[in-house]
Amino acid sequence: MYTVAQLVGGVWGAGGDGGELVVRDPADDAPVSTVPVATADEVGKATQAARNAASQWAATAPAERAAALHRAADAVEAVIEELAAAVSAEMGKPLADARGGVEAGIGTLRQYAELAPLRGGRTLNGETEALDFLTPQPRGVVAAITPWNDPVAVSCGLLGAALVTGNVVLYKPSERTPATGWLLARALDQALPAGVLSLLTGGPEVGAALAAQDVDVVAHVGSTATGRAIAAAAARTGAKVLLENGGSDPLIVDAGVDPEWAAEQAALGAFANAGQICVAVERLYVHREVADDFVAALVRRAAALRVGPGRDPGTELGPLVDRRHRDHVHGQVAAAVADGARVRVGGEVPDGPGAFYPATVVTDCRHDMPLVREETFGPVAPVVVVDSFDEALRCAADSPYGLAATVLTPSMSHAQRAWRELPVGTVKVNAVFGGAPGGAAHPRRASGQGFGYGPELLDEFTATKAVHIEAPGGGHW
Ligand code: NAD
Repeated sequence: MYTVAQLVGGVWGAGGDGGELVVRDPADDAPVSTVPVATADEVGKATQAARNAASQWAATAPAERAAALHRAADAVEAVIEELAAAVSAEMGKPLADARGGVEAGIGTLRQYAELAPLRGGRTLNGETEALDFLTPQPRGVVAAITPWNDPVAVSCGLLGAALVTGNVVLYKPSERTPATGWLLARALDQALPAGVLSLLTGGPEVGAALAAQDVDVVAHVGSTATGRAIAAAAARTGAKVLLENGGSDPLIVDAGVDPEWAAEQAALGAFANAGQICVAVERLYVHREVADDFVAALVRRAAALRVGPGRDPGTELGPLVDRRHRDHVHGQVAAAVADGARVRVGGEVPDGPGAFYPATVVTDCRHDMPLVREETFGPVAPVVVVDSFDEALRCAADSPYGLAATVLTPSMSHAQRAWRELPVGTVKVNAVFGGAPGGAAHPRRASGQGFGYGPELLDEFTATKAVHIEAPGGGHW
């Protein structure tokens, strides 16, 4: 059982007068963490304390900040197993995936530690006796509000980029993975001067109180509805807003592909982490020519997944994060069935403890069904059969979201059309996941705004200053 503590103004164990939350293991409902809830007053005081610490950290040499981030990565590395176990216990992720998420987070911290000191600004050509240049500076106080679905990797991206560029950070992890956030903050804090990182815990109301503070940036990874609430709050304070939000990523299965291989890709994209990945495959547009063989292969793969608690070795499909979320997932499936869709495998809420939901394949779907158009965030693959690549591309593009999309095709011209025409931040051809190190996500429309990840995230956390220097009296130096 984890006993979470807040970190405010460099002091562990501060505050928590807003009550206590208990997080339960979604595999068996056993209590996992007790968590203090910050009051709005505590959030205000923490913001003030962060503001007081900001100028000294901003004035610390970039190389020194980068060295601190490397030490922070070492400290996280020393608790990999502890962090992976906490992720798995709090939100159900299979242990190997949880470990992979922590390793990805450590890699991101190291990337930012290497990249940040290399950044510079342009020099400009003006008067011969004058000096003109642009230089990036820290923005000041950053509120980082994060989700539960890949809690360490996501948090390391925001925290690493914000800290190494000289900002102080108020970190509010998800109320579904607070012990994970606490373990991460404890590791990072070992390597940082007191007061540079604060940890506030609690539910949406704590996030809302934080987003309403006089901070310089609110960086949120989470749902679209929350992102919009945060943007509205920041419009009143003038804080810059960075949003990496939800999606409903399409997978196009073109004519001419091997249906077995396409089903393998689809199963990975739709069922990994029980579908609780922002760039999970959420809707499938399958060419009629391959549809029957593809669906048969996908159903076989869904039925063969090993279901169990995340902590059991060999588990491929863990539970959903909690029953509230399971109700949402099953509600979308049930509504589609009531509207004429057919469940080919899964689709039933199992008896027993926890929040398990089976890998589910639904056919006879239409593009206008909420199961297809909205974010499901569960292990569900809704299949829409299409008659042409044009139709698939048109449906894929027709979405309120703009996160990512995948196309499986043997045709180079179709691949080219896909990356040119799909209005999303990331297009993947012939692989549902993957990408070179340093890839940045630039979501569109309801999926967010600003860069997430990549070197570009360092730019998001700095403000560029233009400097013009002349000799006194208009003369020479
Ligand atoms: P969520 O928006 O419910 O919660 C995320 C964080 O916001 C939590 O810390 C929560 O306490 C806080 N919050 C909730 N309401 C708030 C409010 N009104 N004001 C301020 N903060 C508030 O999201 P979630 O359920 O934790 O995460 C799942 C969502 O995150 C999915 O939609 C998923 O697609 C998205 N996600 C996106 C990315 C990406 O990179 N685009 C990555 C991971 C997850």
